[in-house]
Amino acid sequence: MSLMENWAEEKRSAYLYRVLAQVERDPVKSALFHKLGEAAEAQAQIWAQQAREAATPVPGEFHPSARVRLVAALIRWFGPRALRPVLAAAKVRGLSIYSAGYSAGPSAAAGHPMPASVQDFGQRHRGVNSGGTLRAAVFGVNDGLVSNTSLIMGVAGAAADAGIILLTGVAGLLAGALSMAAGEYVSMRAQREMYEYQIGLEREELEEYPDAEAEELALIYQARGADMERAREFARGLLKNPQHALDTLAREELGLNPAELGSPWGAALSSFLAFAAGALVPLAPFVLNVNAANAIPLSAGLAALSLFVVGAILSLFTGRRALWGGARMVLIGAGAGVVAYLTGSALGAGLA
Ligand SMILES: [Zn+2]
Repeated sequence: MSLMENWAEEKRSAYLYRVLAQVERDPVKSALFHKLGEAAEAQAQIWAQQAREAATPVPGEFHPSARVRLVAALIRWFGPRALRPVLAAAKVRGLSIYSAGYSAGPSAAAGHPMPASVQDFGQRHRGVNSGGTLRAAVFGVNDGLVSNTSLIMGVAGAAADAGIILLTGVAGLLAGALSMAAGEYVSMRAQREMYEYQIGLEREELEEYPDAEAEELALIYQARGADMERAREFARGLLKNPQHALDTLAREELGLNPAELGSPWGAALSSFLAFAAGALVPLAPFVLNVNAANAIPLSAGLAALSLFVVGAILSLFTGRRALWGGARMVLIGAGAGVVAYLTGSALGAGLA
């Protein structure tokens, strides 16, 4: 990157930090963004100075682009929390104060303002991550179940014959599973690209300005309720170990967990399979060529049974009772199926 581009990047972050400091009502968070904004401004001055020394065109005044002004407007409308990935991509740091499970502000002093050790840190995240993957898979199965059951009931409501229902169900399975896989692939890919670029910037900054990075990190811990002296000491210690330093920066500054950045293809395949598994359930009687009169009730019954199991499994993540979780899922799925069936039969009667 040219000196001009480096300068513009820092000015852009400084601009967004000012917006965040304005919008953020919590004085502790607002102060964090104010200080990070000052640091970005100082870094921009360094680039400008280097440009002068290198006799390259010296940057003049900073004018935020339409894109940056749009981000600023979005921060004002939706709040910083909703814009975490956008902000990370715009080189705004300190986003871990918005991560789930981290309480910021004065109350954080009583909670977990800082991880007690590096090991503690890694383990805490790993637990969340593995739970997240299983949960995502169960939701994928649920999507396939509800979507394809509704599709099949809709077509069945229009009194289509078993051959057409089979064709529709297979098409629905493929359409849904491919769409889930494509969405997952694109989103993982985009997240990974953003991460790689931003962590590259952090790596360069860590090499060139280790003290500034330690200070940035300490400010984040302070915003999460730690005493500044202790936060400084802790930040310096963490950054001494180059292996953990980048991981820590990714988590604290980008609000990202590097361990969650799976492979885009892997994510695409698992969401394809999860959706397909769910979608296959209501389709099974038609695939197995069950007698037409029995196929529809059998399909609905299998779907209800699987919805119950999915709901019961999901209750593991909420700590609610499995029976209730299962029953609720069956009710929701049955509602969707009945709406689809009635719509299909009204349309079928109209078209006939
Ligand atoms: Zn940094």
